[in-house]
Amino acid sequence: MKIHNFSAGPSIMPQEVFEQASQAALNFNDNGLSLLEMSHRSKPFQEVMDETHYLVRELFNLPDDYQVTFVTGGASTQFFQVPMNLLNDNEKAVYIDTGVWANKAAKEAKNFGEIDVAASSKDKNYSYIPKDYTIDPKARYIHLTSNNTIYGTQQHWWPETDLPIVCDMSSDIFSREVPIERFGLIYAGAQKNMGAAGVTLVIVRKDMLSHVSRVMPTMLDYRTHIDNGSMYNTPPVFPIYISMLVMRWIKKMGGVKGMEVINEAKAKILYDEIDRNPLFKGTTAMEDRSRMNVCFVMEDPTKEEAFMNLTKANGISGIKGHRSVGGFRASIYNAMPQSSIQVLVDLMQEFERTNG
Ligand SMILES: *Cc1c(COP(=O)(O)O)cnc(C)c1O
Repeated sequence: MKIHNFSAGPSIMPQEVFEQASQAALNFNDNGLSLLEMSHRSKPFQEVMDETHYLVRELFNLPDDYQVTFVTGGASTQFFQVPMNLLNDNEKAVYIDTGVWANKAAKEAKNFGEIDVAASSKDKNYSYIPKDYTIDPKARYIHLTSNNTIYGTQQHWWPETDLPIVCDMSSDIFSREVPIERFGLIYAGAQKNMGAAGVTLVIVRKDMLSHVSRVMPTMLDYRTHIDNGSMYNTPPVFPIYISMLVMRWIKKMGGVKGMEVINEAKAKILYDEIDRNPLFKGTTAMEDRSRMNVCFVMEDPTKEEAFMNLTKANGISGIKGHRSVGGFRASIYNAMPQSSIQVLVDLMQEFERTNG
């Protein structure tokens, strides 16, 4: 039976990426060696590293004053590495609390400066994106989480401010176009929309760095990794290779704009059914709905187990909602084909006929 993987992360990747990565694990580009046993300083891997950096620049059409680097430790390490590199102890940064990840980012940042949580949607279990908040123009940056993976909300607008935006894009990177020049720094763990767990992308505008006065461990200073082409120490070679393959695939799909069109169409199919089917309802504010993580519950929660069983029997995997929201969460990242979403929608309609 074909499995339709709706997991929130690690998550689905294009099938061709799995095939190419499998081949590279056996014999990389006919070098006679597995990519896993090759020196990261070898020419074949240097080419992978160069192309991986280049594809980020190309997909986001990055201006020259933006730098790209790959680090480790996941997005959770970025929660402290960002303020450590960008903020002096006596300076302020604005954070918007749109969920567990945003909250953790603010909490970690408090160790490195004055953190002003200007707005929060905690009052309604993070089911919406706060609007109409005031941003202190003297702050160094404003931190946003562009897509709230757990709750299924997404920024569909960017706040009006002259401050650079620092953004956790872990779960919607390369899913749509963004106004790059508004961002001072973007970070994303690879394992949701751009590859395998083990590598984190950081894009940073040059003028954001070399500002803080604190002493930083070499490995935690972004400049170390930028100045050494993400090869100061041994990088996670295999996850980097996989990110390169995923980005090649995105490029083939029409780039970020191409993905955006496809993602909008895909999300619409599922949300339209949630809104039409009297058995189901969405859990978030309509205008903030995520095109990556679609969260929904049943009007009658006692039917959820039966629906879950029906989906399982038909190869649907990973749609159990996060424990803090309940119900269902269908993660429909870039690599999720529309045909799999249609399978889920068909099952929702079948359940309506048999249990309605
Ligand atoms: C998954 C996720 C994280 C945590 O990422 P790790 O790589 O596991 O540290 C942070 N932010 C967002 C938005 C996420 O979806």
